[in-house]
Amino acid sequence: MSRYKRPYEFTDLTLKKKIEKELEDRKSKIHKYYKICLRCGQLKMLYEFSIEKRNTDGRLGVCKTCKSRESLKYYYENREKILVKVKKYQKDNPRDRSSYYENYQKLNKERLKKIASKWYKENRKAIKARNLKYYEDNKEACQARRKLWIKNHKEEIKKYNREYQKLKKGG
Ligand SMILES: [Zn+2]
Repeated sequence: MSRYKRPYEFTDLTLKKKIEKELEDRKSKIHKYYKICLRCGQLKMLYEFSIEKRNTDGRLGVCKTCKSRESLKYYYENREKILVKVKKYQKDNPRDRSSYYENYQKLNKERLKKIASKWYKENRKAIKARNLKYYEDNKEACQARRKLWIKNHKEEIKKYNREYQKLKKGG
């Protein structure tokens, strides 16, 4: 009567080789599709890291979520400096935005509008999902930005609300 061989009784090592190769493949898959963020230390999918062609794996070492927080922190800490820089650049390069860009927009107004609305219609679901995912991933940053926006537009918001109330009463 025959019985099943126990593992240590196998003399054929091809199976062992096969398993070793499979394990190797699995390991390399981790390097191919996943990456550990240098900031938060989380193992994340590669697409959660921005593209950086200079790196060997083509991605940044810091994940998008951490990166966006970092840049927001940098923005808060250097807001004054950044604003001065932007103003200076705009002063030094007046043609840059105003004439060329605005002209292009004006000349192609209808065409650009059509392209944008067609694109939006075709991608409505994907855009919504993407925005929601971005918000979920960057909740704190989004809320901070919103707060800052409200703070900077206090007067406009008040005015808008007054107009709205007037309209409601009148109609
Ligand atoms: Zn991270």
